[in-house]
Amino acid sequence: MVHRIAFARFRMKMILDTPSPNHDARTPGVPIDILVLHYTGMQSGAAAIERLCDAAAEVSAHYVIEEDGRIHRLVAEDRRAWHAGVACWRRETAVNARSIGIELVNPGHEWGYRPFPEAQMAALEQLARDIMARHPIPAYGVVGHSDVAPLRKQDPGELFDWGRLARAGIGLWPDADFVASEHAPALMAGMRGPAVFDLQAALDAIGYGIEGTGLFDPLTEAVVTAFQRHFRPERADGVSDPQTTGLIHHLAERVPA
Ligand SMILES: [Zn+2]
Repeated sequence: MVHRIAFARFRMKMILDTPSPNHDARTPGVPIDILVLHYTGMQSGAAAIERLCDAAAEVSAHYVIEEDGRIHRLVAEDRRAWHAGVACWRRETAVNARSIGIELVNPGHEWGYRPFPEAQMAALEQLARDIMARHPIPAYGVVGHSDVAPLRKQDPGELFDWGRLARAGIGLWPDADFVASEHAPALMAGMRGPAVFDLQAALDAIGYGIEGTGLFDPLTEAVVTAFQRHFRPERADGVSDPQTTGLIHHLAERVPA
């Protein structure tokens, strides 16, 4: 027994303290119920960490995970880090106040987007599990930056393996045997009608910031693209094909009202 505990401790990842000045007080009484994942989108991890710790940049995250799995703590969890910007999830716009932000080192779409290595994903899995043990973050509160800011952001992007996290019990995911109904409609930019309204209502139920206009407008296209990056990465084009439409309704039913 003693050996097992010692082994478990040995396996716990060391967290490096790399403090950033970019944080302020959380709002008293507001729960921490969102976990936002980002990529750094810069040419190197060192450059990203330098920027996140630069007072003039006025940006930060609670943690940065390097591609080799090293974890840096920049901001204490009881402080508000500045990572989400203008954002919305579950009709809450105070996303920084309610969330923990994790930056994954990756050059991003601008500098040579590439897969997130195993060591980085394993470190993230462990860190996310620890965070979710400390805070009441539900499965549907585990999101990407593009989920909460679909008009502005693409990170962590379509190469991020959300399915892997879900298999580790982290985040919302469709049932393994999910198959879209053959009656699920294909919906795309410019279309109008009740099926578009139903799609918007389902996206709103999952947590996306969207208006129920009944018109497949540019915001709807951006939100569908964000949804696809997260849940259907092989097709991140903003067209809600039957599989995407079916998945959106399937996941909306799994989230409490
Ligand atoms: Zn981001």
